[in-house]
Amino acid sequence: MSTITYISSKFVCFSCRTAFHRGVSHGPNFLDCPTCSNEMIRYDHKFKTPAKNNTSQWKKIRFLYEHGFFFQHVYKQDTRGIKRRVRYPYDLQEAKEFAIKYKDQAIQLRKQ
Ligand SMILES: [Zn+2]
Repeated sequence: MSTITYISSKFVCFSCRTAFHRGVSHGPNFLDCPTCSNEMIRYDHKFKTPAKNNTSQWKKIRFLYEHGFFFQHVYKQDTRGIKRRVRYPYDLQEAKEFAIKYKDQAIQLRKQ
């Protein structure tokens, strides 16, 4: 269980496929969506919101979130033992492999 501090936050609603900025660095990880009142999830402000009709990207993001990945930094060690940041997957297929490979770096957000 963990919380993450961002410089600035963005709250994302998977139902409405929308996001809005909140200039807060910490606080609740979840808010009620003002439109549909489903749960919105806090992401870093740098999170790029896909277009509403980009179903495959939204599916990928939701899949990653459900597996504990919401664009926090993920690392792998190279052959010399140096930690390097891993690129996030482009699509759902890649995301499935990613979620297995980096399972030990997944984070479950705490509900407050
Ligand atoms: Zn909503």
